[in-house]
Amino acid sequence: MTTVFIISAPSGSGKSTLVNLVRSGDSRLLFSVSYTTRKPRGHEQPGESYNYISREDFEQRIRRNEFLEYAEVFGNYYGTSRNALQQAKAEARDLVLDIDVQGARQLKRSIPDAVTIFILAPSRDILEQRLRTRSEDSEDVIERRLHDAAIEIRNWREYDYVVVNHHVNESAETLASIIRAERVRRSRMEEQIRPILASFDQKPPMLF
Ligand code: 5GP
Repeated sequence: MTTVFIISAPSGSGKSTLVNLVRSGDSRLLFSVSYTTRKPRGHEQPGESYNYISREDFEQRIRRNEFLEYAEVFGNYYGTSRNALQQAKAEARDLVLDIDVQGARQLKRSIPDAVTIFILAPSRDILEQRLRTRSEDSEDVIERRLHDAAIEIRNWREYDYVVVNHHVNESAETLASIIRAERVRRSRMEEQIRPILASFDQKPPMLF
């Protein structure tokens, strides 16, 4: 059984750090590496942060229906490959998607039992400070990200869980707990319960 975890957050909320922390402690999680037409930032490595492709290549993949979902964010395309879900299913792992609000909406429609988690910084000032410390973006990009964050966070009610990222370690624990709890939700336990019930059926209770 594969559970899909969708994580959205305005850029600079600390989402990547949190996701990396949770991934490193949970080998059942498969992280989907998205495709994008944006250029690599700072120390980002192709195939690790994203698969970087041209606009033309992206549009061809759209036509070939290769994306589970895709969206245009900050003037660039971003998309999740269908292969990611197939791989997670084949390996009986859970899939983690770091995607924006539009992508989360699309996926929730096609995978209704996907779990959605929204992460946000405790305030605008802290978000701005984090974006500046990261110093990977130019001034106008930072301004745009702050502007977009203000719009994005208005959608928080559409998510199943909301994590305010005050302290990275605490938030990572919260995120890991959400994942652990969702795995034992009754609707996901059918496959695990069946052999347990069968083992009891083999030895029916003695009737007095
Ligand atoms: P960034 O350029 O800061 O890495 O990402 C910008 C936004 O694109 C973030 O909100 C991120 O979650 C979103 N994003 C990254 N990959 C995908 C994807 O595959 N699909 C969608 N819809 N959004 C994505």
